[in-house]
Amino acid sequence: MPSYKVVVVGGGGVGKTALTIQFVHSKFIEVYEATIEDSYRRQVQVDEQVVNLDILDTAGQEEYAVIRDTHLRSGDGFLVVFAISSKDSFDEVPNFIEQIQKAKETNEFPLVLVGNKSDQESLRQVTRKEAENYAKVLNCLYIETSAKLRHNVDEIFHSITKRIRSM
Ligand code: GDP
Ligand code: MG
Repeated sequence: MPSYKVVVVGGGGVGKTALTIQFVHSKFIEVYEATIEDSYRRQVQVDEQVVNLDILDTAGQEEYAVIRDTHLRSGDGFLVVFAISSKDSFDEVPNFIEQIQKAKETNEFPLVLVGNKSDQESLRQVTRKEAENYAKVLNCLYIETSAKLRHNVDEIFHSITKRIRSM
């Protein structure tokens, strides 16, 4: 069975852990624990093929701090997450993309741009259009999720799996 390593990156508090825990354990975590960094494992079936996903939920990075290069280098695919209710978190995305590009020494890697907290529509600070436009520049998919409502959670992991497989 193929095994892919997916690295989840993004600003603090955007929901990286909540998305990962929803995907792996089907529950929503309310408590914000900024420093927990862990890896998780789950099998997924995508188009008839069963794949083992090793998911690294990164943490602890202060704004504009650097994620350990080894983490990024070993990633087969990346979920870059911001919260639609935080313009600041969207503005941090290019910084994470740059870090991945440097670590991977290429501009082409499997990537999905994730706008989390879609349940917070009334607090939205990032329009779908601007996120989609940025995804176009990055040549990747943009998917809005809610870890809270478990909306599109499986989709982002399926999408990145397909992306990895096709590259
Ligand atoms: P991380 O720092 O990116 O790992 O963020 P967490 O996953 O720890 O989430 C930070 C806070 O946002 C927690 O209080 C979560 O309960 C909350 N949160 C995460 N995802 C969502 C979501 O989709 N909707 C809402 N409303 N809150 C969320
Ligand atoms: Mg976390």
